[in-house]
Amino acid sequence: MSSLSNKIVSSLKTIIKSEEFTPLHAPIFEGNEIKYVTDCIESNFVSSVGEYVNRFEKDLATFTGVKHAIVAVNGTAALHISLLLSDVKRDDEVLIPAMTFIATANAVSYIGATPHFIDVEERTLGVDSDKLEDYLNSITEIRDGVCYNKNSNRVIKAIVPMHTFGHPVDMDKLNIVANKFNITVIEDAAESLGSFYKGKHTGNQSKIAALSFNGNKIITTGGGGAILTNDDKLAKKAKIITTTAKIPHRWNYNHSMIAYNYRMPALNAALGVAQLEKLPEFIKIKRELALKYKELFKDFTELKFYEEPSYAKSNYWLNVIILDKDFKNERDNILDATNSNGLMTRPVWALLNKQSMFKDMPSMNLDISNSLEKRVINIPSGAWL
Ligand SMILES: *Cc1c(COP(=O)(O)O)cnc(C)c1O
Repeated sequence: MSSLSNKIVSSLKTIIKSEEFTPLHAPIFEGNEIKYVTDCIESNFVSSVGEYVNRFEKDLATFTGVKHAIVAVNGTAALHISLLLSDVKRDDEVLIPAMTFIATANAVSYIGATPHFIDVEERTLGVDSDKLEDYLNSITEIRDGVCYNKNSNRVIKAIVPMHTFGHPVDMDKLNIVANKFNITVIEDAAESLGSFYKGKHTGNQSKIAALSFNGNKIITTGGGGAILTNDDKLAKKAKIITTTAKIPHRWNYNHSMIAYNYRMPALNAALGVAQLEKLPEFIKIKRELALKYKELFKDFTELKFYEEPSYAKSNYWLNVIILDKDFKNERDNILDATNSNGLMTRPVWALLNKQSMFKDMPSMNLDISNSLEKRVINIPSGAWL
């Protein structure tokens, strides 16, 4: 072990006292989960009908302050529908960060649209709006109010900022740039349930946003997602398109369009209602943990503990250390030492433009993403610590 990886392991052990392997994140079921799921089973309405779906949607809207929440089978499906409802079409381009989970690019591809990769900034780990504006100035042309990529001659329809590890993108800045180029903003808020941007919950800064309740997220429904929107019409459409567009009738099977079976089963929603009750407590514990990490790493010159941007109150879903450029070669030693010593750590996702299926997609210069890819390490972040 190198001295730096040694130092990190022994430091982490002063906070993480468990003798057992400590995962990066794990769900906690200490509230009404068993009660509500049992109740759901006993009601016999475990699937597409049942009170828990409505209740979870209502509770999500209340918590996030977004007018409507429409639950879905997972976060990727919620993103897919959010893009469709934003009028993204086959052969359009959609700007997405290269440094995100694969789901963001997959959802774009399901429509037959092209992911167009953009860079992030180190301060927020999200979209760099200044760099984006320069880039769009150089490669686009507005014709009849529509933004075209001059190189590909395709429409750049939308942009999907992602709130990395729960830290909000600077949305005001991004919205100004997106407006200037007539590009629709769709938030990938899969990681940022419980994160606030300038006092408002993430997902409120665009017309439509997607959440995820996968097993590793801050709350889980086993698998699940939600679409958030303040727009009444979009909310109605979202419900229809995720539930096979069946026209309500006592017995007839008529459908108004080719839609999706993306509904969340009531069983999962029951779990979600119980998890959401615990969310404020999870956030409190996770923010306390982040403070401990901040203190722990404050004298390290080789790395810094990532802290929320000044405008944000983040959920600290996954905690992050960022190695100084001079120490990037230590990353694998650190990953090896921590994982060998019962502490689960992970590098950030391999950049999406390097995945075989996306390697030929358009992309801006990705200097910061390329640099962060070698220097970001996620450390144990569960609300149980
Ligand atoms: C988790 C996640 C999603 C959605 O994932 P699902 O597993 O489909 O719920 C989308 N984008 C990002 C950035 C994520 O982290």
